[in-house]
Amino acid sequence: MTNEEIWQSILAQTQLNVSPAIFTTWFKSTSIVSIENGEAVIGVPNSFAKEWLEQKYHKQTIKLLREANESIREVFFRVVKETPLKPIKNKNTANATENGQLGFEQFKFNKETNLNPKYSFSCFIVGPHNELAHAASLAVAEKPGETYNPLFVYGGVGLGKTHLLQAIGNEVASNSPGKKIRYIPTEKLTTEIITAIRSGTISDLRAKYLDTAVFIIDDIQFISGKDRTQDEFFFIFNSLYNKNLQIILSSDRPPKAITELSDRLRSRFEGGMIADISLPDFETRVAILKEKCQQLNLPFSDDILSAVASTIQSNIRELEGGLTKLAAHIKLKNIPPTVESCLSILSSTNPKKIINFKKIIQETINFYDLKEKEILSGSRKKEVVKPRQVAMYLMRKELNASFPSIGRKMGNKDHTTVMHAYKKISLEIDKDENLQEEINILKLKIYNS
Ligand code: ADP
Ligand code: MG
Repeated sequence: MTNEEIWQSILAQTQLNVSPAIFTTWFKSTSIVSIENGEAVIGVPNSFAKEWLEQKYHKQTIKLLREANESIREVFFRVVKETPLKPIKNKNTANATENGQLGFEQFKFNKETNLNPKYSFSCFIVGPHNELAHAASLAVAEKPGETYNPLFVYGGVGLGKTHLLQAIGNEVASNSPGKKIRYIPTEKLTTEIITAIRSGTISDLRAKYLDTAVFIIDDIQFISGKDRTQDEFFFIFNSLYNKNLQIILSSDRPPKAITELSDRLRSRFEGGMIADISLPDFETRVAILKEKCQQLNLPFSDDILSAVASTIQSNIRELEGGLTKLAAHIKLKNIPPTVESCLSILSSTNPKKIINFKKIIQETINFYDLKEKEILSGSRKKEVVKPRQVAMYLMRKELNASFPSIGRKMGNKDHTTVMHAYKKISLEIDKDENLQEEINILKLKIYNS
């Protein structure tokens, strides 16, 4: 067997053992560089993939290689063609507006597709928090309708869903200019549908979306409870899906957590690839800040960017906001930025979010679609008991409140009830990934809205 054949057979075996998304992200673009003196060198497209493969697939790869060629003792992953995670510098993307604020140059929306060209893959930073969603998006952009259909991306506010979805649209538009692509926020789609129903023009609306090669619907959670819209959307979805046309959806939560969604739509949403975006870690936040500084041509040092990244943890939109604020201050006052001055600007304009009992109750009932009366009641209904226990758990965990005080806030419950709830959720969260996910989303909402 040639080296190339050895590697192809290893890839074929790996493909059987890992999920399609993992395979596409990490293995698909690898190659064998050499086998010499018992050392195999595997070429990988970027340092991110190198690190990941070294950490997770080192042993496994050696084992498979040795089955094919027993002289192999060690394997190294080497970046052969650096696919930049960092974007190409584009000075034209930055300009100063009249009021002294720095901002993106006004990009023109494409009227036909409704896409904003500023959202591209090249300026999208990949980190552990979004790697799966990014990989799936790239795969979809490469072969719309063929890899994952639908693609369903979910995550909290300001974490990059819209950016990623539009990047797919823009990528397909530039690779295949003739393809029909449509981006639409769910609220707009709902209005279109309701208007068409009222004016008896539903067949025109159906015709409008017919043959859309890439149909992107943002924030689909807003379809909750809108039965007529759901019925019509189901029709549009099916007619596209049956023709292998690509559908891409985003939401602030996974399909199973969208309330008042018809079962048939939910199962359609779950029928393709579901990928989440979570909170970026510190390194990724710094990388994103660096990227924004490049785009906007801002002079901040690495020290300052690290300080900003450790101060603002909530989401990427706020991270960008912090940077813009700093840029405006520095420009107005005309002082060289230091870590201290930047931190004081951020703390004066960005008071720490205060969360309290009320906020937890409010977000919990919004999330589970309950009334305040219900969650505070003594109802033993399953759909009320769980949210109530989750709220109690969060009060203990996030506010460090005493059990009796939580009991009082939750409709005068006994402290033993609260203790029981806290223990129950703490135990379940370790075993039940769905619950873990639900609570993470809820926490994001509590801290971000
Ligand atoms: P969402 O739709 O999830 O609320 P957006 O896509 O609107 O979030 O992202 C908020 C802002 O953060 C946008 O300006 C977007 O360009 C930026 N952003 C989000 N994720 C990234 C990323 N990974 N790299 C670079 N910029 C990002
Ligand atoms: Mg969005």
